[in-house]
Amino acid sequence: MSSKRPFDIDLVLERVRDAVKPFPRAMLFQLYEEGYTSTFEILVACLISVRTRDETSLQMARQLFARARTPAAIAELDINDIDSLISKCGFHLVKAEQIHTMAELIVEENSGELPCSFELMTSYPGIGPKCAGLALGIACGEPRIGVDVHVDRVTNRWGYVTGRTPEETMVALEQRLPGQYWVEINALLVPFGKHICTAQRPRCSACPVLDMCQQRSVVNWS
Ligand code: SF4
Repeated sequence: MSSKRPFDIDLVLERVRDAVKPFPRAMLFQLYEEGYTSTFEILVACLISVRTRDETSLQMARQLFARARTPAAIAELDINDIDSLISKCGFHLVKAEQIHTMAELIVEENSGELPCSFELMTSYPGIGPKCAGLALGIACGEPRIGVDVHVDRVTNRWGYVTGRTPEETMVALEQRLPGQYWVEINALLVPFGKHICTAQRPRCSACPVLDMCQQRSVVNWS
């Protein structure tokens, strides 16, 4: 017989909110708090963070924005300049080209202002649904769920949703997760997934939601 109590998303997220307080905030939320609040800045920062550690991405985004923060200012830069400003992130040259192209397109087609449009954002090179969703949720205040590897892994382990890919998980979360948590869940589960419900050997015995978690597909935990 399982001794698990019924899954209560309000209680789970309340405990997770408490548990992640000692850890650094998820990078995009940290930047937003520092005043990098435009849709363009959040989208560029998300692109920088793809396959790159949060700490490095933060440093690279701050470095780039210290030099140029708007599409017009970034379009003026040379791709090699952008590349050297973000040189510690993965695939930096490709990203530099993508950031430059995006900035140019925004200047040419939207008078230098990036509108809150999912379709437009995902039409830019390198921008997928995850980054577009995060930019819309964080910078535009739209109800969007940013499903990255952490949100995907943790919500599936809980047994709260079933998704074989982040895209499937996003659809499942949209059906089930109360609207007030759509933006916040990413801010909570990035540090939770990095420090507690880690990909390898999650720290279940110290986890504040063990009593409600189905630990789905978890075989090796500490
Ligand atoms: S009990 Fe384990 S699998 Fe479940 S959320 Fe906590 S760390 Fe993750």
